[in-house]
Amino acid sequence: MLAHSPMGTRRPGHYDDDRTIAVIRRAVHITLSGLLLAAPIPLISFAATRSTITMGNADNQIVVQAGDTAPRVLRLTRSGVEDWIGAGDARLIDTAFVDGKTVALHWRFDPHHSRTGKNQASLVYVTRNPDLRLRWTWRARSPHGPVEHTILIENCSVYEIEIPLQDSLDFEWKTDVRQQLQQLWIAKGAGEAPPVGTHLVPVPDGYDWRGRSSTFAHPRAGPPREIIPYFLVRATGAKTGGWYAGVEFSGRIAMTLQRHDGELTGTVGLDPQPGPFRTRIAPHATFATPTIFVGASDGDLDDTGNTLRRWVRTVLNDPATLRDPHYPLVTNNSWGSATAIDEKQAKRMIDDASALGFEMFHLDAGWFRAVGDWRADPRKFPHGIAALADDAHQRGMKFGLWAAWSEAGDSAARGALSVADPRVHDWLTTDPPPNWKADAFKGITIDLAAPAAKAWAARETDRLVRDYHVDMLEHDGYVVAQGCDRDDHPHLPNDPAKTRRYRDDDFLWVDSSNSTDVSLHATRAYYAIQSELKRRHPGLLREICNDGGRMVDFGSAAHGDYFSIVDAYDPVSNRKAFYDASHVLPPAMLETYVMAVPAPRIENFRYMLRSGMLGWFTAMIDTSTWTREQHEAAAREIAFYKSTLRPLIREADLYHIDSRPDGKGWDGMEYFDDRRGAGVLYAFHGNDAEPGSYAFRLKGLRAGDRYKLHFRDGTSPDRTASGTELMHDGLTVSLPLADSSELVTIERVR
Ligand SMILES: [Zn+2]
Repeated sequence: MLAHSPMGTRRPGHYDDDRTIAVIRRAVHITLSGLLLAAPIPLISFAATRSTITMGNADNQIVVQAGDTAPRVLRLTRSGVEDWIGAGDARLIDTAFVDGKTVALHWRFDPHHSRTGKNQASLVYVTRNPDLRLRWTWRARSPHGPVEHTILIENCSVYEIEIPLQDSLDFEWKTDVRQQLQQLWIAKGAGEAPPVGTHLVPVPDGYDWRGRSSTFAHPRAGPPREIIPYFLVRATGAKTGGWYAGVEFSGRIAMTLQRHDGELTGTVGLDPQPGPFRTRIAPHATFATPTIFVGASDGDLDDTGNTLRRWVRTVLNDPATLRDPHYPLVTNNSWGSATAIDEKQAKRMIDDASALGFEMFHLDAGWFRAVGDWRADPRKFPHGIAALADDAHQRGMKFGLWAAWSEAGDSAARGALSVADPRVHDWLTTDPPPNWKADAFKGITIDLAAPAAKAWAARETDRLVRDYHVDMLEHDGYVVAQGCDRDDHPHLPNDPAKTRRYRDDDFLWVDSSNSTDVSLHATRAYYAIQSELKRRHPGLLREICNDGGRMVDFGSAAHGDYFSIVDAYDPVSNRKAFYDASHVLPPAMLETYVMAVPAPRIENFRYMLRSGMLGWFTAMIDTSTWTREQHEAAAREIAFYKSTLRPLIREADLYHIDSRPDGKGWDGMEYFDDRRGAGVLYAFHGNDAEPGSYAFRLKGLRAGDRYKLHFRDGTSPDRTASGTELMHDGLTVSLPLADSSELVTIERVR
């Protein structure tokens, strides 16, 4: 438990001192519990101001209070143990813009429309002139894991209103100035796994951190490295305890964290930069902040991660993937041949992959006529895509397809998304220069928020799935606009003086003062398209790829089924990217593409495959090129993935038992499912001259139990060991060869 100073600096407010609050809270608790037990519906209305409310689930409780002019978080607790004490009112926007004039807002608590219950709370504040209604909401959708928070601002007037940026959350926790704290944040894998992907750094007095996430992160448009929109702060030393926040949104997001005089402050929400941010709310329409989640933790990164990963699976993911025992599918992908893929080779790959036990053939870029013209290139696929999909289906495999369906090109063909089409021209984020030509994969992103563009994309994605008999649709390119210089789209017009236009070969984009508003609308439209596609095709899988792993976030986790997490495919890049993203996202969703690397020995071949088998396994290799020995080894590894690894990837707890892989020395990951008493250690030995054996200290076992260890490749004799030994002395693996691996199954002895 954290120690907190009772003397935090407070914002001016109207609250009583802590002792009085505690007394009020206790009194209100009793009243509310009684009401809740008797109430036939879970929600009750607020009777008076200054009521203190506790909502949450078995893991996390939030204590909130409705002040006269603003709500506040009093406390975040984990099972009544880890305590974070709030020190200020929530900052609600204090101005709006009506008819070009700035108007001050004076919020008043509206008890009659406020509702609260055990699992949710909605505190309502209203302003007059202009007529706005703000709902400050919290809810727990699961008995375990974090609680979610959204602020809704409804325009109750009959005219359009513009508002400035409303943060999803601003926090101000009191902490003991002597308490040592650390922050964890994770970088996206993006094009190449970053040198440091998992950041765990001290938070001393004077600390000032800012993280950004968007769908873009182009090196020329800002910092090339973005975060998975999440961070955790935890105490170190004798004390433990921490808390975390994440954002369920793919558009432009910023998170900040500062520490000053013991106070831990910051914001979570839409990115105010570039700014100034404004967005419009039509009459009777509602603006919603990106939903965030928060939770308290006991400070252990994997214990916190296991709760969060399970929550993402059960609350954010499509429940169909939870029910399907084949998820994540063993996938064979054509990108190893890049755009040279054709029908003949694809059919050969399907034949070979089906015999090896692959469950899906995924046709990557290279099948279509041109950017924007998402129909089969007749020279390469003379029988069309549906015939190829049917071929896969006949061999018992599913069929996946790549498309960058939001990119417009320059094709003159009928039906193509082309800049030459006057209708499409209105959807573009910027005008193409004279004689512009699209490149091989990217053109100009259309703004999906333009209603006609959104309708086109909904029809086009439906056509791709239906006409081509697709079981999995992958999107790539930059699906959500970065900025937009149109003034007739739902976002506000840009400021021409601040507009910057970029060109990378033939890929064009815009950055401007309105970029966050553009991404807000485009992201919502993208989510609607993805949801509609799933509604029409319930069994469909949707792979989230956005110029590689640039869209790995909790919003796309709720609108897609798995992620491409990194756009480099060698064994070390795959393990690095998995190590990072798996701190906060479910392993089953984390896809790594396995490319062919030199494998002079079968041990090197297994190392290559297993480096991509920590989560969703996709081999981008024409397996017909493999030797007979490699075929036999691959068939055996795939069968083991399905029988043993996949159930653990789906269900077990994950433990980062060693340092981040760097390709030198040793690294390893452990899964263990305590309910089944089964787990596995993935052990990797890199390419340097480190000793040929290494002891991995396991986690998540029971000290007094005994465990049977089976070394799958026979690198050591099978044996049994106590939980104490495995967790303290470690499980020793011997691998004298460079670039080799071992899988050790761990089974509790009954
Ligand atoms: Zn636009």
